[in-house]
Amino acid sequence: MVQHRYSIINGNISWEWGGDTPVHQTEVAEQWDDCRKLLQNVEINNKLDRWLWKQEDDREEFSVCNLRSELDGMRMIPETQVLKWLCWIPKKINCFIWRAVLDRIPTRDALAIRNIQLPSVLCVLCNICNESVDHLLISCQYAQLVWTAISLWVKIPIPRYMLSLVGLMEHIQSHCSLQDKKKAVYVIIAATCWTLWRVRNNVFFNGKTTNVSRAVGDIKALSFLWVKSRAGKKELSWKEWGEFSCFKGI
Ligand SMILES: [Zn+2]
Repeated sequence: MVQHRYSIINGNISWEWGGDTPVHQTEVAEQWDDCRKLLQNVEINNKLDRWLWKQEDDREEFSVCNLRSELDGMRMIPETQVLKWLCWIPKKINCFIWRAVLDRIPTRDALAIRNIQLPSVLCVLCNICNESVDHLLISCQYAQLVWTAISLWVKIPIPRYMLSLVGLMEHIQSHCSLQDKKKAVYVIIAATCWTLWRVRNNVFFNGKTTNVSRAVGDIKALSFLWVKSRAGKKELSWKEWGEFSCFKGI
């Protein structure tokens, strides 16, 4: 306890080392010096100990509620502006998109950065470029063919220079003015990213390839299922979805 680690000599506080590790070890000595510097301005009084947080002039009692409201007010990562937590898609997929946008899915590139030993960092699908999120989900030849088909389906052109997931999401969403169409398109983006990830995993773990038209078919079926069952659009038909003509103004 703190009270066991100091003594007052001539009115001055003297902090004492109480660790098991000998203080003469260089690293420990450095940390002990840093610690004493932090303690230089500490005043000891007889009040009960309590946890305070934040900076000098603005200390307050810690509470989860305060922390939560502070985090809600932060916009630390501008990329998250393209993200929505959309109940039209399953939680697992919302989490996957969130992680993909923040570059937190375990691509080979991401694993190599974390010092995981891999036989190669090249993309599992094309074996040409490093497997990053933006490569795998956007700029890989395979992904490009899939997005081209999706672009024709939803009638939103995607420029060839689109090389990032965030850029693509911003571009596609900027083409939708109606709320329901925006949501439906977001569902399709999510289904496409999820399908590409599954296609990649199927090659990597099972050695099975999926051709582009099959992947596009999977995306249409998956997104149809989500919109029909999760968006309260029970009257939506497969034909309407296949023509993407179900939202007025498209
Ligand atoms: Zn690739």
